[in-house]
Amino acid sequence: MESSNNFAEVVFGVPINRVFLYKIPEKLKSLSKKGVRVFAPFGRRNLIGYIVGHQDKADIETKEIIEILDDKPVVNEEMLKFTRWISDYYLCPWGEVIESAMPEWVDVKIVNKKEIRKVKERVMGHGSWVKEQDLQLATCNLQLTTHQENALKKIQDKIERNEHRVFLLHGVTGSGKTEVYIRAAAEALKKGQKVIVMVPEITLTLQLFQRFLKIFCNRLAILHSGLTQRERYNEWMKVRNNEIDIVIGARSAVFAPSENVGLIIVDEEHDTAYKQDTNPRYNGRDIAIVRGKASEAVVILGSATPSMESFYNSKTGKYEYLHLPDRIDKKTLPSIEIVDIKGGNIISERLKSEIEKRIERKEQTLLFINRRGSATFIQCSDCGYVWRCKNCSVSLTHHKNDNLCVCHYCGYSETVSDTCPQCKGYTINYKGRGTQKIEDEIRALFPNSNIERMDRDTVRKRGEAGRILKGIDERSIDILIGTQMIAKGHDYPGITLVGIVSADESLNIPDFRASERTFQLITQVAGRAGRGDINGDVILQTYNPDHYSVKCAKEYDFIGFYNQEGELREALNYPPYSKMVSFKIEGSNEKGVEQFSHNFGMILDEIIGGQNDSVRQAHDLIEKLGPSKAIIYKIRNRYRWQIILKGRKIGNLKKIVSRATEGAKTRLQKTSKGNIKLDIDIDPINLM
Ligand code: ADP
Ligand code: ZN
Repeated sequence: MESSNNFAEVVFGVPINRVFLYKIPEKLKSLSKKGVRVFAPFGRRNLIGYIVGHQDKADIETKEIIEILDDKPVVNEEMLKFTRWISDYYLCPWGEVIESAMPEWVDVKIVNKKEIRKVKERVMGHGSWVKEQDLQLATCNLQLTTHQENALKKIQDKIERNEHRVFLLHGVTGSGKTEVYIRAAAEALKKGQKVIVMVPEITLTLQLFQRFLKIFCNRLAILHSGLTQRERYNEWMKVRNNEIDIVIGARSAVFAPSENVGLIIVDEEHDTAYKQDTNPRYNGRDIAIVRGKASEAVVILGSATPSMESFYNSKTGKYEYLHLPDRIDKKTLPSIEIVDIKGGNIISERLKSEIEKRIERKEQTLLFINRRGSATFIQCSDCGYVWRCKNCSVSLTHHKNDNLCVCHYCGYSETVSDTCPQCKGYTINYKGRGTQKIEDEIRALFPNSNIERMDRDTVRKRGEAGRILKGIDERSIDILIGTQMIAKGHDYPGITLVGIVSADESLNIPDFRASERTFQLITQVAGRAGRGDINGDVILQTYNPDHYSVKCAKEYDFIGFYNQEGELREALNYPPYSKMVSFKIEGSNEKGVEQFSHNFGMILDEIIGGQNDSVRQAHDLIEKLGPSKAIIYKIRNRYRWQIILKGRKIGNLKKIVSRATEGAKTRLQKTSKGNIKLDIDIDPINLM
């Protein structure tokens, strides 16, 4: 049968969504299996691609494969199907999906035979790995609470019966979710099945990792960006060679080459980091469910603040809802006090006096602020001039330590002059507050305390994050100031006060999910207080004390928040009550991008107009928003426009998308100026 495989269907990690046909030279025929990598001419270059199928005959003239790089498939049948599904759903090139499912092998720009040989050595020379299987599953000896028991029983039952089911495990921080994950994983292992554990960002969830490590030792592998390319590759190989039972990683762990997966855990399922913001724009949480379904595995989505989408799905019965309502040992949740800071100081008297108390008692304080840098914008008081990025339509953030103002989008920086470049005035105002500025103010207020700051700027140095967390652990730090980075995952009993310096940055983001984000953020940050024996307190400062996100967060009223937010979403036809697709159009020629966006909008109108009857029959109403300038109109000198489609059924939306992009290809691409890029984002998260 092999001999009939004269031609190979090959996909490449390039932004072209199609399969390419190549002739297989006689000497390579025996090696040309589905799922192996090939080296083949592509345009004027040679590229590495993946064989995804075969054909007997070719109607077109084809080039020949130069070399086959693997002796056995690196993409197995299951992974081929899975990546194909993702490519179909997210309308992105199959080759790009496969590429993101694989470890980074080699530099793609290989040019000659000698280098190919080197590639082969690199790829194939890693087979040997010492197996260390003397290992015993550490026993879990905690007595589960009734709620944990009930949740686990339902999960175990499905694992037992090899039945696919999605569970939404809703439990406040400290309610024992991780313990349930561990028991469920042990259950799957007992059945000889493999487990995948996904976390939004591995460095922020060290604690979960350590807990798993303690129990599962060297049956565990982590895949994360902190590893070198070689280390990551080695871990990946171990998983593929069946030497690993549990894989922990960020969103790409969903592609772990584990076979016979019985359980997939998605921790902090509401976290937007699961969505990849570049092509292929998949959502790791959502495709975890797809993979789970294909391999009849159980999927657990865990969160203290489930996403609107997941909670909605649990209400409709699509997911099964499991609740852990209390903290272990009935520890109370920290009480949240709202402090209105309108017209007052950014560090309110209330917050100040609570910090003082903690210092006296040798307890620790965590101060959360959503922005890094010192001043978030710099303005001339005389003429109103604002320092802006030369490449992006955003204001520059002042970083006092290096006296630079920096663009957080493209990295552009300039030194701050003493005079306004516009009016030569001398009164320059540093407005808005970032972590650095708060740090200065706190240092001035508490000069004798040990204060540290943790954000992307301070942890850039290797080992710095570890040093700070150690300081918290050993209680040598009195006050830790930080961004998102300190909001998640860490469990430090010494922290008895959390100050949320301002809840308003996230409330004011022009995004329909701003309220949801704020509610999640407050709950998450508050959860950092009082993990030890002493009850925790939270001071929540805001200019919007009456906002329902703030009020519900104060009461830990998830259902109340869900209901109010849900009403708004339903009235405005936003997810979870609708499906959404966004078109992101960008290019360097401002007029060209605008023209293209309007023309593309017209193509969409024609299609939607024409489809209306059939779509109406499917009880769907398609809504089109835009074209409009993106909220951040310019990034890296590229102008950005956006069009959004909403509708009940993703299938209906995608039909429109496909026809419109076809239309754009034939009618627009050739006439448009300035290398315009049209990106499709299915189930978008980032609307900026
Ligand atoms: P979550 O993941 O929801 O934040 P954890 O599973 O980390 O919660 O549990 C919080 C703390 O309580 C951890 O220190 C854990 O070891 C402990 N714990 C969990 N379940 C139990 C139990 N049944 N009995 C006693 N302690 C428990
Ligand atoms: Zn910039």
